[in-house]
Formats: sequence, structure tokens, C-alpha cells
Amino acid sequence: MNKLKTKLLSFSCLSILLLSTTLPAVAKPKPTTTTIYQRAKKELPTNLYGLYRIIDRVARANKMDNLPWRIVIVRKYNINAFATNVNLIAMYDGILDQLSGDSSALACVVAHEMGHHIKRHIAISQAKKKELVAKIREEAEREVLGEKRAANAEATATAVGSAVSRRVVKGPFGGLLSSVLGSQSRNRLSRGQKRINRIVKQKQQELEQRIAQESRNNELEADEVGYIASVKAGFEPEGCLRAMEVLARTPGAELDTTHPAVPKRIEALKKLIQKYPPQTLVKEGEALISKTKPLTYDISLDKTSLRINSVRGGSVADDIDKKFGL
Ligand SMILES: [Zn+2]
Repeated sequence: MNKLKTKLLSFSCLSILLLSTTLPAVAKPKPTTTTIYQRAKKELPTNLYGLYRIIDRVARANKMDNLPWRIVIVRKYNINAFATNVNLIAMYDGILDQLSGDSSALACVVAHEMGHHIKRHIAISQAKKKELVAKIREEAEREVLGEKRAANAEATATAVGSAVSRRVVKGPFGGLLSSVLGSQSRNRLSRGQKRINRIVKQKQQELEQRIAQESRNNELEADEVGYIASVKAGFEPEGCLRAMEVLARTPGAELDTTHPAVPKRIEALKKLIQKYPPQTLVKEGEALISKTKPLTYDISLDKTSLRINSVRGGSVADDIDKKFGL
């Protein structure tokens, strides 16, 4: 910055300072926070505005504002939300509708999905699934190879046996003996194939069970992030319990599937509230929020989601100008 500009700036700062002390409180320049939020309220559809405000607070109160987030609303009445791609959070119409008016419950759901990204559940589960499938294939191939070797050995023995039998037992009886030996070999092969099919099926079931178990563990981990991060952002701790209450009313909620049964999740949440007292979390979050500025937002380049920018903002051009000047 040149000297003149510095002087002008310090002069204008001084004059603002002087003015602000002499003018009545109403004439004070409005803080930028109001401007960004007011603009958002005007520009964004109501639900998207709510989600932007939630992500802004959760990200800033939990040091999750280092990278941009994306949020999309899926026009389908499902009582669900999910995390996918990189840092994308998808909310179904159904969950937004069911949690209408309850920003704390919605913040818990949003923070849960952010947790899946932070903990790399999506990236890891895809890579792990690939790895497990490769392992199954390898094990099945080994079994197939073993069975093939055994069958081949038997087929060789049968061929030798039938040649011997033709020599020793002449006439139609020799042929009969050889066909008996041949069918034994075929039976052995078909038994082997059936056994291999059984092994593959069993291993696939084991894989699915392992994936489901891992997915249940991930859900509990994301629930923990959902509780801690939303409470740090200043939302009510009971918000998570209210979100669970809605889930508990969906069919099959009492069963362990890819998600743990909802009653188990509620129990785990109650333990978390004991383990991490809300007052402590709120204080930690407030300290971080007060040190940061509201995050800006833009339409993402995917054209379907809202991008909530990181602390660095949404424009490389602006960032470079700020750093090095024009
Ligand atoms: Zn989840």
C-alpha cells in the first residue's frame, strides 16, 4: 500500500472514530454480519437460508471452516439426509418438513452429515469395500484352484483307469466301468463347483455383515460429531434427541441395519450429553465464533448446490488481489 493510501485510510478511520463518538448510536455503521445474513435471507429460499446459517455456525464453532461445504435439497419426501461426494450434504424434503421450526434438531442432522465427511467415512468405506471384494475374489479363486487341481487329478486317474479297464475287462463291461469312473469325476467336479458357489455366497454375506457393522460404527461416530458440533455452535443439546424421535417413528427404526437401531442411538446420545456437558461445549464454540467472520456463500460450480465458502472466501481472484494487490 502506498503512503498516500495509508494516510487516507488512517484519516478516514480516525474520522469514522470521531463521528461514531459524536453521532447517536443509530447512525453507527452496521456490522458486516448483518449485511451478509440479511442478503442471504433475501436471496435464498427459506430452507436453504436456514441450512446456510446452520453450516456457517457449525463450521466456525468447530474449526470446520477451512474448506468449503456444499448443501443441496433433494425434492423427495424421505425422512433422511446423507453425505456424499466431497463435502456435499444432501437433505431430503421429508426431513426438512418434519423438523420445521426446530433449528437445533436440524443442526444436529447437518452436523452429523458433516461428521461423515470430517471422519472420512465415505472415502474410507468405498476404498474398504473395494479391498474386501478383492480379498473375497482372491480367496474364492484359491478355493477354485484347489478344487480344480483335485478334479484334474481324479480325471487323470479316471482316464488311466479307463484305459486299464479297457485292457483288462474286454467287451461291454470295460466300457461300463469307464463310464462309471467318468461320472464319478463329473460328480466330483459338480460337487466342487457347488462348494465354491457356497463359499462365495458365504463370503459375500460375511462381507455385507462386516460392511453393515462398520457402517453402524460410523453412524455412532457421526452422531457424536453431530451432538458435539451442533452444541458448540450454540444449538440445544436436546435437538439431537428430537431428531432421533422423528427417526424412531419411521418403519424399521428398532432394527439394526446399516444404521444402529434408533433406541441404541438415543441411549448413546444420552451418554454423550453426560460425557460432554453442553455448557463447556457452548463456551468453546462461542470463543471460536467470536474470533471468526460469517462465511460467504455462492452457487456451486455444480449448479445444483449452495457452496458455503471457507474462511478464505469464494473467489481465488479476490484472494490473490488481497495477497498481492492488483
Ligand atoms: Zn449417517
